[in-house]
Amino acid sequence: MSGAVLTLNAGSSSLKFALYAGTGDLPMAEGMVDRIGADEARLTLKSASGESLPVADLPLNDHAQSMNAVLSSLRTAFPNTEPRAIGHRVVHGGANHAQPVMIDEAKLAELETYSPFAPLHQPHNLAGIRAAMKAFPGVPQIACFDTAFHRTHPWVNDTFALPREYYDRGVRRYGFHGLSYEYISGELRNTAPLIADGRVVVAHLGNGASMCAIQNGRSVASTMGFSALDGLPMGTRSGQVDPGVLLYLMDQENMDSTAISDMLYRRSGLLGLSGGVSNDMRTLEASDSKEAHQAIEYFVFRVQRELGAMAAAMGGIDALVFCGGIGENSRLIRARVCERTEWIGLEIDHARNAENARIISSDVSRARIMVIPTDEGLVIARAARAHLAQERAA
Ligand code: ADP
Repeated sequence: MSGAVLTLNAGSSSLKFALYAGTGDLPMAEGMVDRIGADEARLTLKSASGESLPVADLPLNDHAQSMNAVLSSLRTAFPNTEPRAIGHRVVHGGANHAQPVMIDEAKLAELETYSPFAPLHQPHNLAGIRAAMKAFPGVPQIACFDTAFHRTHPWVNDTFALPREYYDRGVRRYGFHGLSYEYISGELRNTAPLIADGRVVVAHLGNGASMCAIQNGRSVASTMGFSALDGLPMGTRSGQVDPGVLLYLMDQENMDSTAISDMLYRRSGLLGLSGGVSNDMRTLEASDSKEAHQAIEYFVFRVQRELGAMAAAMGGIDALVFCGGIGENSRLIRARVCERTEWIGLEIDHARNAENARIISSDVSRARIMVIPTDEGLVIARAARAHLAQERAA
């Protein structure tokens, strides 16, 4: 089969992948290597119908070995489907990349300069690219950035009020979850063009969570900024914190950047607020603990607050779209978020919400409320396919 593409998302100890045929929205197969480098490292591969497929018994000690194991397993399972292009999820594309780019050594060196901006993700994303370049020599590698969709922000939403030289040195509000927002934007363009031309707030509520104001298909504001820590509380991440708190912790509690980073990224958010009950919304919803309920209350409050902020950035709102694991599945959170949104013209229909319908606003709601399952992998596959189409046309 010609024109198949592989998508890769390399994390610190995981490598998620999906194989797409030349056309179609669903992958032919997907899987992951989990716990790379640990004794329990495991490679799993599933067909489109969800059936587990046999995998190669190869070492999984680092990204390069894991990539070889993935390659070997895919070749056995799909002997006639060699990927012609590989699309990578890369968290940071810096201030200028508004589109996916084809990777070569020079581009890789440039992307390495963004690692200090995203030290927990970027180096692993790039290790995944290096491993793929080795395992698939000569196959084009396309980097797709979580920051790219937000490059249309006006200056006021791209900067902090710090001394100007910091902006020039890269201290900017980059925004993240861009692949998800691009997917939702495309879906609206195809299925609800009038809304796509209007003012849309997308709430991507998953383990990581952010919101984005999209006006006429362009991102104008986002709750995430310089890092993926800002804005909403998340599974284990704090969301927005007064920077004075961090100064206090450094000065009075002798916490260094490693300790603060661990607290902000891994011990805060829903997990921290619930007193350790869970970072997982399903568990919190099922819990009787007062702290779990308070964590949900804080999450809902911050989503409502940011909804107002995102709408203000556009001078109003024509639609609110929920996506991400929580946004797509939690009737409770959607209902709670929309409890006090009449002021902004949003009225939920509880029966539609309970059915997980695509449109969950009432018939009299001035603005629409929608649930659209997001698909970041497909955005990456489309970028890789677009590269192949360009090559063919050249
Ligand atoms: P990630 O950001 O890692 O991609 P997901 O988008 O998969 O995360 O979202 C994971 C979150 O979605 C978890 O908090 C999980 O509890 C929540 N979630 C998934 N299904 C439901 C559900 N039916 N009800 C409430 N929360 C849910």
